[in-house]
Amino acid sequence: MGDRDQPNARAVIAAEIAAHGPMRLDRFRALANGAYYATRDPLGRAGDFITAPETTQAYGELIGAWMVEVWRAQGAPAPIVLAEAGPGRGTLMADALRLIDRLAPDFAAASSVHLIETSPTLRALQAARIGSRVAGWHERLATLPEAPLFLIASEFLDALPVRQFRRRGGAWMERAVAMEGDRLVWTEIPAEPLPGRPGEVSEEAEAWIAEAAHQVVRFGGAALVLDYGHGGGAEDTLQAVQGHRPVDPLAAPGEADLSAQVDFAALARAARAAGAVVYGPVPQGDFLRALGLPERTAILCRHAPPATARQLQAAARRLIDPDAMGLLFKALAVLPPGASAPPGFAP
Ligand code: SAH
Repeated sequence: MGDRDQPNARAVIAAEIAAHGPMRLDRFRALANGAYYATRDPLGRAGDFITAPETTQAYGELIGAWMVEVWRAQGAPAPIVLAEAGPGRGTLMADALRLIDRLAPDFAAASSVHLIETSPTLRALQAARIGSRVAGWHERLATLPEAPLFLIASEFLDALPVRQFRRRGGAWMERAVAMEGDRLVWTEIPAEPLPGRPGEVSEEAEAWIAEAAHQVVRFGGAALVLDYGHGGGAEDTLQAVQGHRPVDPLAAPGEADLSAQVDFAALARAARAAGAVVYGPVPQGDFLRALGLPERTAILCRHAPPATARQLQAAARRLIDPDAMGLLFKALAVLPPGASAPPGFAP
């Protein structure tokens, strides 16, 4: 159950449907996930799902090294903003900073660290972990300082709301949530305004990458997106997960994590329309192998107790294996025009 001080997501959703009729899917997801992330730490074995940085320190380290290399390729500008959207427990950024401090003190000195996070619960965990290094927390990209931006988003965009459009005869319909008695049920309402395309659309994810791309084009830098997703045209990838198990997305809004696969074709289009150069998407397995995940894991294992070494090896396999996260998860990079191919995206 959620925190008693937090409004109950189900009650808020039911009241809004009673007052205004069926609720659009993006509104439903925003209310459900807002309550979900505000009230808990969902990550890890005791939570609802485990993410890449929680399985191995090598993940954040390699992303830190990627940022440094891209920064050097752009002439090592200073000062810069090193930012992460949806940093969870702050694990990825902690691992990246530890490596950066050791291997690239010039990058460390040039950068101020900014976190984009809406959940007070997770902000507190991030502060406990890397608070002394964080120059500021933000609700959105727009308030980041104006400087070259080195931005990471790992399993962030999948948490943003989606809409789902269908053509029924001559009419455009969109998926919505209604009440039947005291149960939440799926329904369809006429789509207003008319959508640009059928299927599942994340207007927020597209607006987010367009804004990141604008900043990168204007000031320099790079945005690196890692997430699970597809190459466009999906109709319904919405899923709810609670306690590491799939559940009905309508059963307990605010109590389960709702996510949808990222449409990488739509992200690439939106970033290009903003004037940026896009690399990828490439399968996460190829990306992490090219960055040296197996080699980094072998080095970490040399100094680790056998049980830890086994965990690190299993995590690396899970991130790379095509049957686990290696293929479904993908990497996409957004760079200013003229920038060379970043590590892991070589043709
Ligand atoms: N990147 C982390 C956490 C993934 S969970 C990891 O891989 O471990 C999703 C993260 O995005 C959480 O930190 C959540 O609070 C945050 N988040 C969700 N919706 C958000 C929004 N609209 N704006 C900013 N952060 C958001």
